[in-house]
Amino acid sequence: MYNDILKELTFEYERERNRREKARRRRVDNVYKRIPAIRRIDEEIFRTGLDMSKAIIGNPEGYKEKVEKARETIEALKMEKAYLLTESNIPLEYMDMEYGCEICEDTGYLKNGEKCNCLKQKLVSRAYKMSNLENILEIQNFRNFKIEVFDDKPFDGEDLTPRENMIDIVGISEGFINNFDENNGQNLLFYGTTGLGKTFLCSCIAKSLLDKNKIVIYQTAFTILEILENRRFGKGDKRIGEYQYDLLFESDLLIIDDLGTEVSNTFTNAEIFNIVNTRIINGKKTIISTNLTPKEISDIYTDRIFSRIFDKFLPLKFYGRDLRWE
Ligand SMILES: [Zn+2]
Repeated sequence: MYNDILKELTFEYERERNRREKARRRRVDNVYKRIPAIRRIDEEIFRTGLDMSKAIIGNPEGYKEKVEKARETIEALKMEKAYLLTESNIPLEYMDMEYGCEICEDTGYLKNGEKCNCLKQKLVSRAYKMSNLENILEIQNFRNFKIEVFDDKPFDGEDLTPRENMIDIVGISEGFINNFDENNGQNLLFYGTTGLGKTFLCSCIAKSLLDKNKIVIYQTAFTILEILENRRFGKGDKRIGEYQYDLLFESDLLIIDDLGTEVSNTFTNAEIFNIVNTRIINGKKTIISTNLTPKEISDIYTDRIFSRIFDKFLPLKFYGRDLRWE
């Protein structure tokens, strides 16, 4: 599926290049209409260049002098052209190609065949669109994470204060990000009641990995269920549906938010199990966030699913006062 997005983007790059080339030709035509002398200069530059190539091919021994002369002619013609443009208040680069990305000249690739950053960014943006992250990420990132909002007083039944606990969790999350490319089988399970910063932290992790050019999908279990059901019952745009479905498996990181709030049935359970399990087998990482306790999860999802999946996750408990109103 990744390749399909890539193909689509390659096509978009081509369309963009054509659009810009047409715009350039329109600008050139404008200039020719306004200053016919420039058309003649361009034609002469072209002819001189052609003569130069002919000279090189026709007389490999003594072409140097001819080439030197042709170069001088072309330089002089360009000067004349520049003079005419300036005289008419037309910017010198007005007739040149205007690239969206100067680095790859709107091809998406560098000379050595590697992807240009503009293409990488577009690939990630496609994932952004599906992961709904564009807006929240500006606000919810590690820079805006304020540890002081967490209480530093003992909390019933817990060894650490909510703040100490959160410092641990943030540390583990940062380790998760820094070692993301290592095949260490690390997956995270955030659990605890609402309003304790689980979603905020998920956004922080997503943002950090998107900045590293990773494909991150961040969805609620409810939306994932919708994607699964649309696909199962052939609802909605088929191509987009398949794309969304494939990304659940193939994204570098899948964040399933709010697991357990969806109406679960045998089909849902099996499908969610299938996604998470396939990712584990393929060494792809997953974060699950839930308001349920591990006990409640195991009651909803069958024990078989629960134990096989959650063995592979590091459970991190969020506790403290509800922060939503602060
Ligand atoms: Zn580029």
